Amino acid sequence: MRDFTKDHSALALNTASLGHNLEGKGAGWSPERVIDACAARGYGGIVFWRREIGARAVAIGDHARGAGVPVVGLCRAPFLVGPMAPVAVWDDFQAAIDMAAALQAQVLTIVVGGVAAGTKGVGDSLKIVADHVAKAAPYAAARGVKLALEPLNPVYAGNRSCLTTTRDALDICDAVAAPNLGVAIDVYHVWWDTDLPRQLARAGGRIFGYHLCDWLADTHDVLLDRGMMGDGVADLRAIRAGVEGAGYCGPCEVEIFSAEDWWRRDPAEVLDVILGRFRGVC
Ligand code: ZN
Repeated sequence: MRDFTKDHSALALNTASLGHNLEGKGAGWSPERVIDACAARGYGGIVFWRREIGARAVAIGDHARGAGVPVVGLCRAPFLVGPMAPVAVWDDFQAAIDMAAALQAQVLTIVVGGVAAGTKGVGDSLKIVADHVAKAAPYAAARGVKLALEPLNPVYAGNRSCLTTTRDALDICDAVAAPNLGVAIDVYHVWWDTDLPRQLARAGGRIFGYHLCDWLADTHDVLLDRGMMGDGVADLRAIRAGVEGAGYCGPCEVEIFSAEDWWRRDPAEVLDVILGRFRGVC
């Protein structure tokens, strides 16, 4: 395993940790200000949400590279299925891929969406997801973008993600068999899964992202009460051992949705605490 106590160049900020995934949350720093604050602390990369980028993808990507904090990922593709999916899924999927390419972000994260109307269970919905990513993969490959399917905690299966396990995500990768299709492993979503080590061993070179936070034992809100690394019950070192054992040596992206705690703090403090925890407990 990599030793983060002496080298935190793998540390990447997902700007959701500052509340930037939701309108009106957090301190509202500009992308450039966040980039510069990360650069000052030696972060190695940054991941934005589409709502922050607007029509300025090229300029923001340039600023990030110039500061030494390249944009290493983009959140996210539209929901592909289920009650929260847009009507024009394909148009929005293409727009997300185009934005990732303009940022020169190598990875676009996909949260797949919930259960399709008129169906029960997740089987039919997962087939729809597979069809969408099979169509998108060559479009993304032509633009230098990798697609990372992110399984979410099963609590979201109805509306946000019928894809809930690393196993099912890898099954879709197997079925689609596109070289630029892989998975993102997020501690918040997989920490409970006793089958995770086996699935990570199966993943080979198909892990495209690793997301850090923690699961608070007394979680108040499953969407917006994620914990800072070290404050919860996830076995962070064991999960990273499995992820790195599968050959992953890319950025470790800190992604903490925390409306009542971390989003209320000064972003400078949040960035400092993340850095300390990254070196100490991850
Ligand atoms: Zn994530």
